[in-house]
Amino acid sequence: MNVQAVADLSPDERAALFDRDAGVAAARDTARDIVERVRTEGDVALREYAEEFDGVSVGNVDITDEVERAADRLDDDLLAHIETAAANIREFHEAQRPENWTKEFEGRELGRRYRPLERVGAYVPGGTAAYPSSALMGVIPAKVAGVDHVAVATPPAEDLNDATLAAIHVAGADAVYQAGGAQAIAALAYGTESVSSVQKIVGPGNRFVTAAKAEVREDCEIDFLAGPSEVLVIADGTADPGVVASDLVAQAEHDPNASVVAVTPDESLAADIAQQCDRQAGERDRSDVIQEALDNDASGVFTARSMSEAVLFAGEYAAEHLSIQAENDEELLDRIEAGGSVFLGPFSPVAAGDYAAGPNHVLPTGGLAKTTGGLSVDHFLVSQTVQRLDRDALADISETVTTLAETEGLEAHAESVRKRFEE
Ligand code: NAD
Repeated sequence: MNVQAVADLSPDERAALFDRDAGVAAARDTARDIVERVRTEGDVALREYAEEFDGVSVGNVDITDEVERAADRLDDDLLAHIETAAANIREFHEAQRPENWTKEFEGRELGRRYRPLERVGAYVPGGTAAYPSSALMGVIPAKVAGVDHVAVATPPAEDLNDATLAAIHVAGADAVYQAGGAQAIAALAYGTESVSSVQKIVGPGNRFVTAAKAEVREDCEIDFLAGPSEVLVIADGTADPGVVASDLVAQAEHDPNASVVAVTPDESLAADIAQQCDRQAGERDRSDVIQEALDNDASGVFTARSMSEAVLFAGEYAAEHLSIQAENDEELLDRIEAGGSVFLGPFSPVAAGDYAAGPNHVLPTGGLAKTTGGLSVDHFLVSQTVQRLDRDALADISETVTTLAETEGLEAHAESVRKRFEE
């Protein structure tokens, strides 16, 4: 990997870093065609796409009955680890559940209540790697929110991954379909003979999945665009270059379209990180995928003239995962404008959050972290406001309401207030 100075970036290089979309825009046309075919042809299209993209001849699309059996045959040790991760994720998400509240404001009794959605779909990726962790991350917050029907779609395979199926079972999904990619998103959004449509689709995926979520969002709510993985590490001279590189290489192994970045004011640290990335990439099983991601235009090791310049760079990059490996990490966190999920200190690898620390790993990518947080219980709730005014409270604000209503030319609004005080 080359080391480049932030100050030397050309406008095109800055655009590749800060306006990155990891190939999602280029996948939009393909995703649109797939969505349209599934919408009109249903299961027939799902089966044909399974043959074409997954090389699998699918019998039953609905595999709900399979997941409990997969959990029963899974190695006890592996099942126990899935349950440990599930427990930590559930505990963290239970702490997020908002309480209904009511408060008295001088005769105005006002409050906020939360209702769960009824039917949601969680996409669990499974193209080039298996993602039992994403099953836990998508389904558990929905169940904690109280969603009645949580459906999962995951790519078909000759031998479906038992760990993924077991995790879907442990998380408590109500329906499971073998469908992957854009076709799965279309099936969840519009329904097919085998798949019941849902109100909202959540979950991560590759560029086709992400492009399809963007396609269906006018008809079906989505969480946000959670595409190919990203990490930005901001480091000072106290950081261990081998550890920083290990976090970059780990996210790079998700996808050739993944984006991984380190930025530091320390030139010799930057050189060591770049060297370690090249060395570690060659030692990993998925070295081809890693190398492609490291070579991506939105990846790189950068030097900044000061920590302030590094902070600005990190905020503008707005990575899905933000790791701060520096002495004054909390102070830096306050100054960095954006980052989907934050990892502080030498013992908080991004991988801990990917699997088992508790926070959600379904996170906004492509700079969306500037405006959107990661998947949470809130994504599965609808809030309602409630108000009850007593006679005096309405009298107190009646002139304000009638004046503003008449200013807007809405006389019937004003009259509905006056009506309450007629003898
Ligand atoms: P996936 O399930 O997302 O995609 C596999 C599907 O892609 C296949 O079933 C196939 O239908 C479709 N596909 C493949 N090639 C295609 C083509 N040429 N045309 C149309 N469709 C095609 O699994 P994956 O590919 O392993 O990707 C998982 C992704 O999820 C990675 O990019 C990873 O970084 C990302 N991820 C993101 C987050 C997040 O929160 N942002 C979290 C975890 C994983």
